[in-house]
Amino acid sequence: MTRYDIAIIGTGPAGLEAAITAKVRNKNIILFGSRNLSQKMAVVDHPILNYLGLPSVTGKEMAAAFQKQLDEMGIEITEQKVTSVYAMGDFFGLQLSNGEMAEAESVILASGVVAGKPYPGEEQFLGRGVSYCATCDAPLYRNKTVAVIGGSAEEEAEADFLGEVCEKVYYLPLYKGEPQFSHENIEIISGKPVEIKGMMKANQLVTDQNTYDVDCVFVLRAAQFPGQLVPGLATEGNAVKVDLQMKTNIVGLFAAGDIAGQPYQYIKAAGQGNTAALSAVSYLAEKKKG
Ligand SMILES: Cc1cc2nc3c(=O)[nH]c(=O)nc-3n(C[C@H](O)[C@H](O)[C@H](O)COP(=O)(O)OP(=O)(O)OC[C@H]3O[C@@H](n4cnc5c(N)ncnc54)[C@H](O)[C@@H]3O)c2cc1C
Repeated sequence: MTRYDIAIIGTGPAGLEAAITAKVRNKNIILFGSRNLSQKMAVVDHPILNYLGLPSVTGKEMAAAFQKQLDEMGIEITEQKVTSVYAMGDFFGLQLSNGEMAEAESVILASGVVAGKPYPGEEQFLGRGVSYCATCDAPLYRNKTVAVIGGSAEEEAEADFLGEVCEKVYYLPLYKGEPQFSHENIEIISGKPVEIKGMMKANQLVTDQNTYDVDCVFVLRAAQFPGQLVPGLATEGNAVKVDLQMKTNIVGLFAAGDIAGQPYQYIKAAGQGNTAALSAVSYLAEKKKG
């Protein structure tokens, strides 16, 4: 398996700037995210007035300018969600949503901020009837009943896959619009998630309208809470604790952009992505010296 110098998680301004800087410094990188780059650029139609060098661009125009730069530099995006990052001592193991693993000497987290808090029971039952990855865990629930809390329409494909494997899937969309599935055993339910209940394992999804008996609850968000993505990561609220070099409490792991706290701004995210990449480059150089 290729062990990359730097794995970058996120294709918003923070992750993209980190990728560009690391590439300029001749590092072997892998960039995880979305071909649409970031929803936070894709949906912004108003002019952004304070991004240096791009006066009065909309979010979409900014995304197009970023994509052009990636293309010119030959930087490719690996369209996979990273579901967990494990510090293995000398390197990092990254669990991907397609069930595969990737390895890197260092990691930059640039996966944006998650609003709200985990649902009651979510953290308690993680790995015991709560999952963040349908592709990874679907085989465990073959011919069983599961629920999916879908944070965006992008999660519908994962739920559809569960429909193929499981006997019954309850799908609870947290967004507007009519979800589309190709499997008839997927029932769209409404309401707000309230709690995930269980004993040794989770066995119920409680909403403000009903209670569903299930074998697993898949919580599929566009981004994960940082402490769930990386076990042992020091956080404050929904933000990763970083120093001015964007170092976290885990050696070799850096964070940049909204995930590193307020203010939530494009230019600040890009600037921190640049710092994180240069810190990762220094870390790799020190490591090489031994
Ligand atoms: C409606 C709106 C308007 C805004 N207007 C302005 C403005 O005018 N000016 C301004 O400066 N800021 C504005 N912002 C804020 C700005 O959008 C954010 O500060 C900025 O996008 C943060 O960049 P980021 O790279 O940290 O994260 P994001 O842009 O959130 O990008 C995160 C990326 O990580 C990916 N990702 C998440 N989890 C994973 C995972 N597990 N594996 C792989 N990839 C993952 C996502 O797909 C996404 O590509 C606005 C935000 C919104 C929502």
